[in-house]
Amino acid sequence: MRTSYRIGTIKEIEINLHISLLMILPFFVAIFMFNNPPLGFSEISNTFLKVGLSVLATVTLFISILVHELAHSLTGMRYGVKVKNITLLLFGGVSMLEEIPREPSQEIHIAIVGPVTSFAISGVFYLSYLISTPWMFSSYFYSMAFLNLILAVFNLIPAFPLDGGRILRGYFAKHISYVAATRKAAGVGKLLAIFMGLIGIFYSFWLILIAFFIYIGANEEEKLVYIEGLLKNVKVKDIMTSEVVSVHPDITIKEFLDLMLVKKHMGYPVVDKGELQGIITFEDLRSLPPEKYTTVKVKDVMKRDIISVSPDEPAYKSFKLMNENRIGRVLVIDNGKLEGIVSKTDILRTLSVLELEGALDAE
Ligand SMILES: [Zn+2]
Repeated sequence: MRTSYRIGTIKEIEINLHISLLMILPFFVAIFMFNNPPLGFSEISNTFLKVGLSVLATVTLFISILVHELAHSLTGMRYGVKVKNITLLLFGGVSMLEEIPREPSQEIHIAIVGPVTSFAISGVFYLSYLISTPWMFSSYFYSMAFLNLILAVFNLIPAFPLDGGRILRGYFAKHISYVAATRKAAGVGKLLAIFMGLIGIFYSFWLILIAFFIYIGANEEEKLVYIEGLLKNVKVKDIMTSEVVSVHPDITIKEFLDLMLVKKHMGYPVVDKGELQGIITFEDLRSLPPEKYTTVKVKDVMKRDIISVSPDEPAYKSFKLMNENRIGRVLVIDNGKLEGIVSKTDILRTLSVLELEGALDAE
């Protein structure tokens, strides 16, 4: 099932709406309708005006989040970072930036422009509130000024995956290694999350939820950067399997399964006359009923969009691609020629060896 929908493109950045957000929109409209200022318009007696303002406020809120994310993305692009897309979801927005620079001052800059932008939006709405006529849009302006201020302050909490966490890491990374800085910043975030969770037990369920989200985020970031650190000096060609077993697009699924039993891999490139056509994995067969195994061919279920790396790229890139695309393997292609395959198993094996070597060095 598709979980996000493309709503437009700004400066070649795809803007997506996540389904969780679409489901929560009516809930937001209701919040605006029934809350007192600055969170809503319950004091307005004209129902038509109240509903209209609530819808307008909901849309404005998500445009504000989009502008916040765009600020990150556009600043990243100035430093040569590729931006894949921006997805708006329940908890705000996520910019998919590829390879954020490991240069502390650049990372701080990319992170800080988000909250700064939200502060600025808040300021503009507050000014509009001050000069607007009291009965029409003033409560709308006031609400938007308030919520953008919350957005700015919330994002400055020094914990991953919030902007504040990245700013803090950038600050630490000016003096210590990137991995150590991440560990330190993640530690601060986790402590903060535990503290927030404890307060939440007594005061608010929402605070527990946010604490949980922050704890997981800190943990993920720490793990990713640790793995990146380990794999830093390893190239794809050092860990790939080069004797690749490929399959022909015209064999049936039954024949493919027989081959799988013998060769024991979970995914295979599909090759016809030396040309790479796609990739087929065990997961691609899940939705296929067994009675079709003898009639359906590999080419009917294989994936045609091939995710690949080149042999001289850092091994970490293959790990990142697998994570981002939720796949178990990537193909290694050099000048259009299939050179090998890297699977999660290859990565895990390399990590275990490197960890042991690291322990040895530390002794
Ligand atoms: Zn942000």
